[in-house]
Parts: sequence; structure tokens; C-alpha cells
Amino acid sequence: MIQNAIDILKTSKILFVLTGAGISAESGIPTFRGVDGLWKNYSVTDLATPEAFAKNPALVWEWYQWRQEIISRAKPNAAHTVLVEIEKKFDKFLLLTQNVDNLHQRAGSKNVLELHGNIFRSRCNTCGMVYETITKTEAKAANVPTCTCGSFLRPDVVWFGEPIPQDIWQESLSFLSKADCAIICGTSGVVWPAAAIPQIAKTTGTKIIEVNLEQTPMTPIVDVSLLGKASEILTEIVSHLR
Ligand code: NAD
Ligand code: ZN
Repeated sequence: MIQNAIDILKTSKILFVLTGAGISAESGIPTFRGVDGLWKNYSVTDLATPEAFAKNPALVWEWYQWRQEIISRAKPNAAHTVLVEIEKKFDKFLLLTQNVDNLHQRAGSKNVLELHGNIFRSRCNTCGMVYETITKTEAKAANVPTCTCGSFLRPDVVWFGEPIPQDIWQESLSFLSKADCAIICGTSGVVWPAAAIPQIAKTTGTKIIEVNLEQTPMTPIVDVSLLGKASEILTEIVSHLR
């Protein structure tokens, strides 16, 4: 099976990659649907929503600070590093990530688009002003950090029920339509619209390689499904590319 993926990649010049929480699992960052998906008995769908923030912004911030700390301590793993190598082997390359952890950028990937924002940025709930970082003391002192306009700041991420950034989505689709191959790695395929990518890729003849620990709803329509750890599979693949 892995040979099929290598054959596809060897004849590809334009590569699109979509990553999800699974690629950062080996860095110790919990996925949403894995066994570590709960925090203080809250499920993520009780926390990562505009309704949860409206009801209890301090609780939502407490959860985000806990995640920011885990993510700050984490390091990119072999899967992130290998994607940096893979980027250099193609004429054109785009990495669209659903992750908010910044690990692709920290590993050194260049052409990265974030579909769900970045956990280290904040933005004003009222005026929309974006803040690159909020120090821990600023956030902790107030329980909920505030904007210069006086309104609450929220994490600059896309919550359940919110629209994704249209400019990033359109740019990704336009790239995907020209891509020879798409690798979909570590995503459960239940979060839209990223889950629609395999179907979209099919319409332009883009070959799809899925890398995941287990089968997903996307598996039946991909060209090659590789079951296993992202780090191991991507390392094996790159060793066969010129
Ligand atoms: P998900 O939690 O729904 O699914 C993770 C997928 O990764 C699963 O299918 C699982 O089988 C697979 N997986 C786990 N470990 C793996 C490994 N070592 N190698 C290969 N595959 C592995 O994640 P999702 O599909 O990305 O969707 C959830 C949303 O949650 C995302 O949109 C994202 O914004 C957010 N999220 C982000 C982070 C992060 O930034 N690291 C972490 C958790 C959730
Ligand atoms: Zn403001």
C-alpha cells in the first residue's frame, strides 16, 4: 500500500496537505475525539462554542490557558519535521492545517494556512482587534483579558458553529484544484468543511492519500489509505522520494 502512495507522489509536482489534531498527538497534545478529550469533565463541545463563551468566559479562558500551556511545552514531532522536507521536494506545496498549535510553523514549514486560527492569538469579541499574544499575567489577573475598547478578548480560533475564514478556504480550494496529490493526515473527517476535501479533490482528479491510525468516513473514497502513526508513515514515505 505504501508503495502506491510513493508511486503517486513520485509523479506529482503540486502537493496539497491537510492536517488535523492527529499529527500533533505524538507531541502530547490531546485530540478532541481521543481518550484525553475531556477537561474537568467538560467535553470540548461544551467549551469551544460562542455560547459557552457568552455564558462563562472565565471558564473558557481557563481551558484555553491550560491548552496553551500544554502546547507551549510541546515540541514538533517527526511528522511535522518530515513535512518540512516534503515541502522542498515539490514545485508547489500548500499545507492547510486545522490545528491551532503553531507546530508546523515552529517545525519550519513555509507555506502554511490555518483554517481554525491560532491558539496564541486573541481577538476582541466586539471590535475584532487581533492581539498577537496575551501574557499569562495579563490574562490571569483579569480572569478574562480585555481589549483597549473595554470588551472581552477571546481566543482567535474558530469555534463549533462559527464560519471558517473564507479567504483561507478559497485559497486552499484554488490550490487543491491544481494539485496532483493531496495527503490528508491525522484528521477524523467529521469536522466540516475540511471533511469535504476528498470529494472536492475527486472532481479535479487529484489523487488522495490518507494517513490515520484508523479508518475514517473519508477512507472509502481516498485512493490510498495508510493506517498507522503519522510520524512513522511520513518518515517512510520521504525516504523514498528523491
Ligand atoms: P480529531 O480529534 O477529530 O481527530 C483526530 C484524528 O487523528 C483521529 O481520526 C485519529 O484517529 C487520528 N490520529 C490520532 N493520533 C494519530 C497519529 N499519531 N497519527 C495519525 N493519526 C492520528 O481532530 P480533527 O479532525 O483535527 O478535528 C478536531 C478540531 O479540533 C480541529 O478542527 C482543530 O481545530 C481542533 N484541535 C486542534 C488541536 C491542535 O491544534 N493540536 C488539538 C485538538 C483539537
Ligand atoms: Zn475591542
